[in-house]
Amino acid sequence: MPDEMLWPTRNVAEYAYCPRLFYYMAVEGTFLPSADTEEGNHVHRRVDRPSKATTVDDEDTGDESRPKIVRSLALTSDTLGLTATLDLAEINGTVAIPVEYRKGRPKRQVMAPPPDDPGEADQPPLSHPEPWPTDRVQVGLQTILLEEAHYTVPNAILYYASEKLRLTVPVDDALRSEALATLEAAKQCAAGTRPMPLINDSRCVRCSLQPICLPDEVNQQRLEEIKPRQIWPPRDEGIHLVTQKEGVKIGVRGASIRVTDKDGILVKDVPLANVETLALLGSVQISTQAVQVLADKSIPVAFLSAAGRLIAIIDPLDSVSADVRRAQVRRFDDPQAALALARAVIAAKIVNQRTLLQRNHTSLPETVPADLAAEADKASQAESLDVVRGHEGQAAAIYFEHFAGMFKGHEGLEFDKNGRQRRPPPDPINSCISMAYTMLTHECVAALRQARLEPSIGAFHVSRPGRPALALDLMEPFRPLIGDSVAVAAFNRGELTEGHFIRTASGCMFTDSGRRAFFSAWGRRMETEITHPIFKYRLSYRRMLVLHARMIAAWLLGEVPSLAFLTTR
Ligand code: SF4
Repeated sequence: MPDEMLWPTRNVAEYAYCPRLFYYMAVEGTFLPSADTEEGNHVHRRVDRPSKATTVDDEDTGDESRPKIVRSLALTSDTLGLTATLDLAEINGTVAIPVEYRKGRPKRQVMAPPPDDPGEADQPPLSHPEPWPTDRVQVGLQTILLEEAHYTVPNAILYYASEKLRLTVPVDDALRSEALATLEAAKQCAAGTRPMPLINDSRCVRCSLQPICLPDEVNQQRLEEIKPRQIWPPRDEGIHLVTQKEGVKIGVRGASIRVTDKDGILVKDVPLANVETLALLGSVQISTQAVQVLADKSIPVAFLSAAGRLIAIIDPLDSVSADVRRAQVRRFDDPQAALALARAVIAAKIVNQRTLLQRNHTSLPETVPADLAAEADKASQAESLDVVRGHEGQAAAIYFEHFAGMFKGHEGLEFDKNGRQRRPPPDPINSCISMAYTMLTHECVAALRQARLEPSIGAFHVSRPGRPALALDLMEPFRPLIGDSVAVAAFNRGELTEGHFIRTASGCMFTDSGRRAFFSAWGRRMETEITHPIFKYRLSYRRMLVLHARMIAAWLLGEVPSLAFLTTR
């Protein structure tokens, strides 16, 4: 960490709560709002409005006009490398008392009843309120900053909003030492690598970063006795917007994304808070203001051609973690590490191809499942990337040879098993699969971005200009599970028919209504929940992609020893 770095007292207090949380928030700049953080903002709404005089330097200690109560008081110490914005300070001449607001309750010390207290056996043990260690550290550091600014600080106050309780914290050497020791430990932590997660700790249950940190999932991979708790929210509540109609415009007003048609008439008004991704197909327009607001909210925007080719993705700048990127570059430089990822994704893909054929093919030759199982097995033990590629190719040849047998209608008869190489695709099924793979690439890029990984540096797929190689790696196990499966279900249910495609001399493309039908089937598939075979909880396919992207990041950082990708039976 650079010497000139100023640590906010709030971040140092996070270190006292959990070093990994501190690292995520202070070093990597990762933050996820939760009900608790929103409630905290509400409690702070008044003290977060600065008083007119907000810096100690501006204050004249003898001046009667200076506010006695100063909100959002900013203090900095270059010597300590520390900065703070105090919720509130009560200042009287040269005496200052920091007041810190907390939305929750104080810690309760359980005490045994006095031995001579008769008749109390049925009563709950007496308790009295105490500050939480994190709160002590924060007011301790604020005290030190006030003292450096030549104030005398006799005590600090913690206001716990849930109980409307003002708790006085005496200022003494113990408080100062505790605060300084935590500051030093936090600086040491920031100079190292991301700490490991807490083990089976109740703090993780309410931690807003739990879906990113994955404490139980990471610990389960290294310590077998850990059983993951279902603490990652299982539902996918976000909105994934896809707009495709020519002339449509995307803008923002207030806290909403507004979609208007070519005549400026409002088509859709979507609350910004719920949007997770946005994809624009063909000649859809988007305002600069909308791009800025979406980037500010960390919402990626994908631009696709009308035929479904991924052209560009706007990737907000916050999606960078130096540690993760460094680990990604270093590990993939090691041929054995690249091979380990390649083996894992390709073996899982072949297993999933086999399952899809077994589930949907009406007359699958008996030898096919065994042949694919053998290819998966060999891919999982291959000694080089080229050998993995060989088994992937063998499996693909078997799979696409029998692929058409999964379709009940005449589209299957028309399917060109070599059509995966052609642009535009030659028939409706290939056209649907191409669109599905493009959307899957976009989803994988978004998932990798959330895991702070660089999509263009992969292991199995070679990096080339404009190629999201790691996204292509991540999507391998999901091609049959999501991409091919959407095509099989949509054609077999009659959601996609011949009328949804236009034929030209060069190939086959969706009509507008065909694309609408495709995206409806696509959205449902991404929201379908499945049980993770190792962690045993249910997640949507979209969340499953993010989970696997984060597990790749954990593996690259050395937090988990090996990789396993989703396979279904
Ligand atoms: S989930 Fe647990 S281990 Fe992870 S950052 Fe939060 S408190 Fe720390």
